[in-house]
This record gives sequence, C-alpha cells and structure tokens, in this order.
Amino acid sequence: MDQNLDDELHRQMLAYGQRYDIQTGLLNYQSFQESLAVLLRNAEPGQEFALVWIDLLNLRREFSLWGSKGAEGLARHVSSSLRSAADADSLLGRFGARCFLAAVSASKFDRGDRARIQALVDAVEPLRVLGSEIKPEVAAGVAFYPSDTTSAEDLVRFSSLAAARASSTRSSVVMTFQAEMNNLIMRDHRLEVEMHKGLDRGQFCTFYQPKLSLTTGEVLGAEALTRWSHPEWGPVTPTEFIPIAERSRLIHRIFDFSLRSALKDTQRWREMGLILPIISVNASAASVYTKDFVRNLRATLVEIPIAPTILEIEVTESMLFDDEDLFTQVVHELQDAGVRIVIDDFGTRYTGFNVLKKLTLDAMKIDRCFIHGIDRSQDMRALCQTIVAMARQLKMRTVAEGIEEPGELEVMREIGCDAGQGFLFQRPMPAEAFPAFLREWPERMRSFGFVAGFEQTALNPIAKMA
Ligand code: C2E
Ligand code: MG
Ligand code: MG
Repeated sequence: MDQNLDDELHRQMLAYGQRYDIQTGLLNYQSFQESLAVLLRNAEPGQEFALVWIDLLNLRREFSLWGSKGAEGLARHVSSSLRSAADADSLLGRFGARCFLAAVSASKFDRGDRARIQALVDAVEPLRVLGSEIKPEVAAGVAFYPSDTTSAEDLVRFSSLAAARASSTRSSVVMTFQAEMNNLIMRDHRLEVEMHKGLDRGQFCTFYQPKLSLTTGEVLGAEALTRWSHPEWGPVTPTEFIPIAERSRLIHRIFDFSLRSALKDTQRWREMGLILPIISVNASAASVYTKDFVRNLRATLVEIPIAPTILEIEVTESMLFDDEDLFTQVVHELQDAGVRIVIDDFGTRYTGFNVLKKLTLDAMKIDRCFIHGIDRSQDMRALCQTIVAMARQLKMRTVAEGIEEPGELEVMREIGCDAGQGFLFQRPMPAEAFPAFLREWPERMRSFGFVAGFEQTALNPIAKMA
C-alpha cells in the first residue's frame, strides 16, 4: 500500500477512535458529552430532551461464560437494538464497558414520550449465541432537560443516579430521576467528608453496653458501640454513618478506633480493679475481608498489651454468605490469635447447622427482631427455643439482643438463653460511666430477680478470668 495512504488511514483510524467507541461505533463518553452540550445549547425555547442511562448488568457474567467475544457480541447487540429503536436524530453513546446513553427528544410530562422511552429500553431483546440465548439484563434511568437540569453534565449524572436506583431495586421499569436521589448522594458525600474530619478532631467516642448472664446476672462482658457527635448536626447514629463508612476506606479507621478504645478502656478498668472478662468489638465485612485484618489486629494487641482472649469480634451473619471459604479462613486466623468470634444479628439470614458445624464459633447473638414481643408470641418463642437448642449442639453460647421488657427477659431465661443485653438492664453508656455501673450492678441486679453474690467476676479480681 502507498505509504501516504497508509498514513492517512492510520490518522483517520486514530481520529475515529478518539470520537467513537470502537466495538459499537457509538459516540464515546467524551464526544457524547460534547455533542450533548451542543444539543442543549442550541435547543429552541420549549424544546425538551430525555437522557436515558442504560446499565448492562450481566456483561461481566457473559464475559466469564463466553470470553471477550461474548461480551463484545452482547454490547454490539445492545447498541444495534438501540440504533433501530431510537429516532434518527437521537444521540447515542457508550460509557465504559457496560453503560449506554441515549439523548432523545421527549417531555417529562408527556405520557406518550414516557412510553417511547420505555420501549427504547424494552427493544433490547435476547441474543442468540451458539444455539443459546443471552438475555441482556438492563437497569435504566432517565432525567429530563430542562425540568431536572439545564446542565449537560448534571443531566448525565442524574440519569445515572436514577439507573442506580433501578439497579438496586432490580426494577425493569425505567426509573425517573428525583431531586431526592441527588440530595441523598450529596448528603452521603458530605457525611463521608465530615467523618474524616470528625475522626481527626476527636468527635468520635465509644459507648459500652453490658452483656449479662441470664442465670446469675453477672457481667460477662460489654459491647463497644461507636458514637459520633458532630459539632453542628449533633449525634449521628451508627446506622446512618456505618453504611457510608463501609463504602469507603473509612470503615478501617472506625474499626481501628473502636478496637483501640475498647482495649485501652478495658485495660484502664482492670487497673482500677474492675475485671471485665470479655470486650466485644463490631467488625464489618469490608474490614474483616481486607488482607491485613488479622495482622493489624495482632499488632494492636501487642501495642496495647492485654490478653487476646478477652477480645471478641462481632461479625454479622450475612458475612458468612459473602464468601464462606474466606470467612472460614479469617475465623481460623482469628482463633489462632486467641480472639473469639461471635455471630451478630443471628436469624436475619438462614445459616444452616451444617455451615455452622464447620466453624467453632463462640456465641451467636439472637437478633433483636426475634426478642421484641417474644412474651406475646408462641411462634417466636418456639423459634428462639430451636436456635438455643441448635447453639447447644454446636457448643455455642447464646446472647439475646435488645431485651427491653421484663416479659422478654423472663422468656429468654426460661428457654435457657445464656446471656442478654438490652435497654431493660442498661443503655449503652460512655466509658466514664462504666466503672460506676460495674460497682452498682450487684445491687441493681436484684430488681431483675438475680441474687447478688460475691462471685461477681467484674468486681472480684481473683475470680475466674476468661
Ligand atoms: P449491633 O452490633 O447489633 O449493636 C446493637 C445495637 O442495638 C446498638 O445500636 C445498641 O444500642 C442497640 N440496642 C441495645 N439494646 C437495645 C434495646 O433494648 N432496644 C433497642 N431498640 N436497641 C438496643 P447502635 O449502637 O445504634 O448500633 C447499631 C449498629 O451499628 C450495631 O448493631 C452495629 O452493627 C453497628 N455498629 C456500631 N458501632 C460499630 C462499629 O464500631 N463498627 C461497625 N462495623 N459497626 C458498628
Ligand atoms: Mg454487635
Ligand atoms: Mg446485633
């Protein structure tokens, strides 16, 4: 081939690749954004557009099944379905591997237009490959110009938020953007930034809630619960900030913070002659499944010299389902380090006897939802009885979470649950209040029908230690 022609072809190919997605021939993200900005800038007064964001959810699975050919084939199939279904003047683009964008002329308040948008997404039909059928699974969201925004960039962002909602709810209906979706994400981002600052500036602290023996009333241990007090917002609850921390690396800082506070406070109480046999710290899956989790934990136990056997890590039952093998490995590593593991919120997922049998876990905490109103429900009582019986066979202790009423305490005692914690006995309290609680408890526990004795482990340094 003539060298000049070759150079020219090369130049054209490069220019094409800068503007288009090579696999599908759709505009790439950069040029889609530019074209969209031009489209909106030149819009006539009263003209309206919809930006549809389509996520191809099963692209990765098809890649694992069929390799790059399958994934490419699926992406091409989606793009050609969109091309034939969209009006000729629509803008079509691709963002990353699994995301398709369409800017079409449509009004937010026109039923016919909404139906056309749904039809565009529904046009993506199954693809036949080697006699099998690949069904594209899509989640789609839509945002409108100018009703939702006049900015090209926000229009794309808003449609992606709506698609994310469709994906999380597994909806096959095109989800329409709502301002609240943006407020939520902005709020999450703000929380994340503030959490970083808060950890640096000492706005976090650790509260403690005692775990009590339901037979003797003695204090068996305490659970460390993280608290955040923001200078402007006031207290922010863990149910608000933990899920956001879990989506970033912040959760590691929170775990490290609560572990250190818990160990240091327990050590301080010991120096005061108050022996707390067990201190429990909550750990999220995101922390537990990091490479250095056990190594860092061992290092902290060396730095704050305290017997590892007093430490208990609470992991949620759902973690077992994320990756059973990895979970088993971490459990063994923790046990090698001398640390106990308990399953938190037990009953919220169904973990069978056979799975638990393989792991020698210390205890299971029966979720609060099974304890609430147990004195008024025979079904709940029977269920908890079964859980306690199963735990016995597995040589695991049982802890009832969230005991609020005397009736609930009565039932849990009757069915032989070993330990309990809850507002009925004591709400979580700051570290400074805990020594007084330990001193006063032998007297206070009488009101719950426990008989005070000298055997109170927490007050008796020579009593048996865990
Ligand atoms: P959890 O580990 O199941 O902790 C028990 C929660 O139940 C605590 O809520 C506690 O205050 C509350 N509670 C205790 N007794 C009662 C009761 O009688 N009635 C009611 N209604 N609630 C009771 P909290 O402190 O708001 O924590 C909520 C969740 O946040 C915890 O559930 C835990 O999953 C998570 N969390 C808290 N601190 C940390 C932390 O440092 N790291 C991680 N990863 N998660 C944490
Ligand atoms: Mg817990
Ligand atoms: Mg729990």
